[in-house]
Amino acid sequence: MIEMDCTCVQKHHCIPTERIEVSEHAIEKTAEILKNYHRIFMVADENTYEVAGRRVEELLKSAGILSHVLILPAPALPNAENVGKVLMEAGRDRDVYDIQAWSLNPDYILAVGSGSLNDTCRMVSYRLGIPYGVVGTAPSMDGYASVVAPLLNGRKKIVYNCSIARHIIIDLQVNAEAPYPLLLSGVGDMIGKYVAILDWEISRDRNGEYYCENIAEMVLQATAQCVEASKGLEKRDISAIRATSEGLILSGECIAFCGSSRPASGTEHMIGQTWEVMDVEEGKVPNLHGIEVGEGTFTAIEIFRRLYRETEDLHMKELIGKYLPAFDKLESLQKSLHLPFTVTDRERYVQGILRGRTFRDRYTILQYLYDIGKLEEYANAIYDTVMEKHYYGSFRERFPEWRA
Ligand SMILES: [Zn+2]
Ligand SMILES: [Zn+2]
Repeated sequence: MIEMDCTCVQKHHCIPTERIEVSEHAIEKTAEILKNYHRIFMVADENTYEVAGRRVEELLKSAGILSHVLILPAPALPNAENVGKVLMEAGRDRDVYDIQAWSLNPDYILAVGSGSLNDTCRMVSYRLGIPYGVVGTAPSMDGYASVVAPLLNGRKKIVYNCSIARHIIIDLQVNAEAPYPLLLSGVGDMIGKYVAILDWEISRDRNGEYYCENIAEMVLQATAQCVEASKGLEKRDISAIRATSEGLILSGECIAFCGSSRPASGTEHMIGQTWEVMDVEEGKVPNLHGIEVGEGTFTAIEIFRRLYRETEDLHMKELIGKYLPAFDKLESLQKSLHLPFTVTDRERYVQGILRGRTFRDRYTILQYLYDIGKLEEYANAIYDTVMEKHYYGSFRERFPEWRA
């Protein structure tokens, strides 16, 4: 259990996570970390099995605590089909069929992978009431310690409440070898936190929404840590991988402390996830979460900058003003990192902003602009600004082989 006393109205925050192991060769410690379990059901996909799963399987087997293994075809999207497969394979029938008996469930589910497998397994863990943990294979998103999972259900993407990981095991060697698009996705998911916290502050002041300044501060520090580390990612510098992984995990922890993704997801996620949903609705494989969120972040930044220039609401101006230096930092980060964008078409881009407002029931700057009758005007104008200032090429041009 990770806990902290707090000065906010909640007074205390805690999550059931027992251990977070981020180290070189962390995988070798898996059996020792999970020694209190006896029937561990391990889930990987074809890729993550190769990079980490095979070794984890060996270790658990020789410790005598492995029940069985499921390897999903890659890429294993976090969709209803895969949740169903994991659920169907989770239990093992007893040797003798007994109509009165339940199947023999595992006592632990271990995901080997990153965002998709983690979300798939945590949903099954939540529904079956069995603890789960993850051996993370890429620092690609902040969901390892999170409390919610966005899952694809038919042509919809729905955010479900799910279990929180009991154990998070990040082997830095394995993570340093992760495909570069996944590393960029981790950066994209993280840079949006400035926007998320600003939205949260705005909602606190306008709607009296619950706000915890200690959680907000932790998220902002984790973000600064990731921004700083992102320069070393292309060279796959171990200390950069470590700082990014720890920053992402801390962000997830804050989501769990808060009990909702409020501290880590605002305008940038609402827009980015709307673009993801638009792909899903058209039957396409959605783009990497963090890449969409990164583009959504630059969108949100330009919305805030414009509002800062135009607004006569002094309190709003003051709130936004606090974040302008962070936004400038992200702009210079983008000049060196060239985070690729996925949505380059004006109509789709604008739709993402307009629909993004209602992606979920969460007050953001999009709702504020809608209420003052300016959302459409902003959405159209911001497209030009973002493409002119922050666009350095599309994801497809840069990574033509990715899930092609
Ligand atoms: Zn608090
Ligand atoms: Zn995210």
